[in-house]
Amino acid sequence: MATNPDVIIIGGGLAGLAGAIHLSLKGLSVTVIEKSSYPRHKVCGEYISNEILQYLNWLGADVSQLHPAHIDKFEFSTATGITTSAQLPLGGFGVSRYVLDNFLYQKAIANGCKVVQATVTDVQFTADLFTVTTSSRTYAAKIVLGAYGKRSNIDQLLSRDFIQKKSPWLAVKAHYSGKFPDNVVALHNFSGGYCGVSKVEDNRINICYLADYATFKQYKNIEEYQQQVLYKNKNLKAIFENSTLLFDKPLTISQISFDKKAPVENHILMMGDTAGLIHPLCGNGMAMALHSAKIASELVLEYFEGSIASRQQLEKSYTKAWNSNFRRRMLMGRLLAKLLRSKIMANQLLKMMIQFPALLPKIIKQTHGKPIVIN
Ligand SMILES: Cc1cc2nc3c(=O)[nH]c(=O)nc-3n(C[C@H](O)[C@H](O)[C@H](O)COP(=O)(O)OP(=O)(O)OC[C@H]3O[C@@H](n4cnc5c(N)ncnc54)[C@H](O)[C@@H]3O)c2cc1C
Repeated sequence: MATNPDVIIIGGGLAGLAGAIHLSLKGLSVTVIEKSSYPRHKVCGEYISNEILQYLNWLGADVSQLHPAHIDKFEFSTATGITTSAQLPLGGFGVSRYVLDNFLYQKAIANGCKVVQATVTDVQFTADLFTVTTSSRTYAAKIVLGAYGKRSNIDQLLSRDFIQKKSPWLAVKAHYSGKFPDNVVALHNFSGGYCGVSKVEDNRINICYLADYATFKQYKNIEEYQQQVLYKNKNLKAIFENSTLLFDKPLTISQISFDKKAPVENHILMMGDTAGLIHPLCGNGMAMALHSAKIASELVLEYFEGSIASRQQLEKSYTKAWNSNFRRRMLMGRLLAKLLRSKIMANQLLKMMIQFPALLPKIIKQTHGKPIVIN
């Protein structure tokens, strides 16, 4: 009979894989259950804040091997195309999820983690033990970490509040060849959404936008929507017209919710987007996913070592740590997104940023965490 792992992680994106590497480095046995195979492209802006670099290095994942783009400048424009820019206080790097997730997957395997390709269809908690079911078998473990992303069948299963509501957001992403500065991450607004542009490895340009579904569906296809809506911002028009699509077609996802979620549900510690998705305009959902994996892993290790005496204490400590690290940032993200949705307020904000150039780096700081320092 197969032995049970110490920890099961549902979802092998950034949070799930970082948690798996962290826990296995410290001697726990970990099974990750991920429904997709590696490598694969994901809808994401692929700009990662440097706040996470030390942690990645501690995990043994030196991302410089992936030849990322080094990014230290932020460019911002309103839907009418008025533009400003600022140095990024901390900076970041651009690397595709195709390469990064696969890199972490290989690390997890090399560390002895078991990564199973299957969809989790059920999770039950009884008598202080979890049973996790996929189409082919059932697993048991003392700890389950939820790292299954923004929206999943597990959310339905747990009857989480946000899943009951329809979300108005849709996202589109593709890689392009063309001319764009290596060191810039741009956020160009358009009516009903905003679009991020930055470089990743191999000189590829990532263009990824979040759009209001109600407006989007009025157009025949993505191409027409881009030309009729995004091109009204002259910056986006110039970028698209001077770039060549490298994918067969752009990737899309819908029903993206930025609603509040609980960091613990049915005794599962939720990491990354499963605990809450920050508006992508903040550019640090990935750093937060990795950071939340660090927090959860450290507490789970304390629980296995006995310095956290009970499950109840573990859940309380995780909720407290999650809130103190991320809650304010999530609020700031929601607030900024709301401001940008109003043409008048976005123009006012931009005018203020042009008048007071120190304002933009201050706003950026509010949406980012302090660099993670490993002692
Ligand atoms: C449009 C857009 C642009 C963004 N741009 C940026 C950016 O530039 N910078 C940034 O830092 N962040 C950005 N983000 C946010 C970032 O993409 C997420 O915060 C990050 O991917 C979270 O990682 P994760 O590990 O939590 O989830 P994911 O990477 O989504 O991983 C979840 C995994 O769980 C798996 N899964 C789901 N259900 C099951 C199941 N039932 N069984 C098994 N496996 C399952 C999925 O296949 C997936 O691989 C953006 C988000 C959006 C929507």
